[in-house]
Amino acid sequence: MIPYGHQDVTEEDIKAVEEVLRSDWLTQGPTIEKFERSVTEFCSASNALAVCNATTALHLACRALDLGPGDWLWTTPNTFVASANCALYCGASVDFVDIDPQSYNMSIVALRDKLESAKQSGRLPKIVVPVHFAGQPCQMREIRQLGEKYKFAIIEDAAHAIGSVYLDGVVGNCRFSDITVFSFHPVKIITTGEGGMVVTNNPKLAAKIRLLRSHGITRELPGMVGDSDGAWYYEQVDLGYNYRMTDIQAALGASQMKRIASFVDRRRYLAGRYGTLLAGLPLKLPMQHPDTSSAYHLYVVRVLGGPRERRRIFDGMRSAGVGVNVHYIPVHLQPYYQRLGFRRGDYPNAEHYYGEALSLPLYPGLSDTDQNYIVETLKSLLG
Ligand SMILES: *Cc1c(COP(=O)(O)O)cnc(C)c1O
Repeated sequence: MIPYGHQDVTEEDIKAVEEVLRSDWLTQGPTIEKFERSVTEFCSASNALAVCNATTALHLACRALDLGPGDWLWTTPNTFVASANCALYCGASVDFVDIDPQSYNMSIVALRDKLESAKQSGRLPKIVVPVHFAGQPCQMREIRQLGEKYKFAIIEDAAHAIGSVYLDGVVGNCRFSDITVFSFHPVKIITTGEGGMVVTNNPKLAAKIRLLRSHGITRELPGMVGDSDGAWYYEQVDLGYNYRMTDIQAALGASQMKRIASFVDRRRYLAGRYGTLLAGLPLKLPMQHPDTSSAYHLYVVRVLGGPRERRRIFDGMRSAGVGVNVHYIPVHLQPYYQRLGFRRGDYPNAEHYYGEALSLPLYPGLSDTDQNYIVETLKSLLG
């Protein structure tokens, strides 16, 4: 089976991990900072904090922004469940903004309308989480303008988008947001096995995230309230977690960061090639907004015949050994969210999109020959 995503791990990556395994520090050592530095430099941001996955990164971002009971977090229904769950971890409520039918990202028009009616009912969000779906950045300038008008904070869920570009700046520079989070799961752009990163230019948020990532414990004077009993002394000053990344993972991450440009180049090349080879078929190909350049975590086509036809194509591709996938089942249709009161029909664009979406395999190691096979299989299924 040709998978839909796959990591690229070299001998050099393995050597980097081995070096850490032979060192004194398997966790809480110097390799974490090395990896964090490579991400701050790549993103032109001032702080990056490595954590054990992007789900915890989102949770810490919400905690740092003081999200709690009575607050609202808004995100898109066309995402992985983690983008919404982070609000519920904090005891806050979630709501969704429907997607734009072209970009599949949160619709700016729908966001503006929903903010205006939320203002009337006094239920404005404290945080909005735009998700750069498939790697294509959201319209962050517009979202930031709305954030200033309606006073909400912004967390960019950039799990798909390390290496993406928006208005001449790389995603992660936090020019239009408070915090950006990345995921390093093996199907994403770079990997650490499990892993995530919180990026911010705000030193106060960074300090809070650093504290909460490690039990809410500090040994540093400005954060401590009591007098030190001695060199062993530490204080728990907040309710934190153990959301740390290991140095073993960070070694893989730092080594992968050296090749991020070639990963993204290869993804863009393959996406461009899909575009050429699939032209003229009864499919809707991904659009690229002129303000953005996607890192192409995913290459999603829409099967124009509708849900039954998509199912037939999906099954046919899988039978032919092509590991197509579907991103995403709208979050509000999940049974857990249905129990919270969301209903089918609430976000029609996301639901309609879901009925047609098909993610084709895309990863740096995908050969042109395998890509040709994928295209030929799809062509013959479409008749
Ligand atoms: C993968 C993903 C996450 C969660 O990442 P983990 O590192 O697996 O916790 C969050 N949001 C989106 C959009 C994702 O694709």
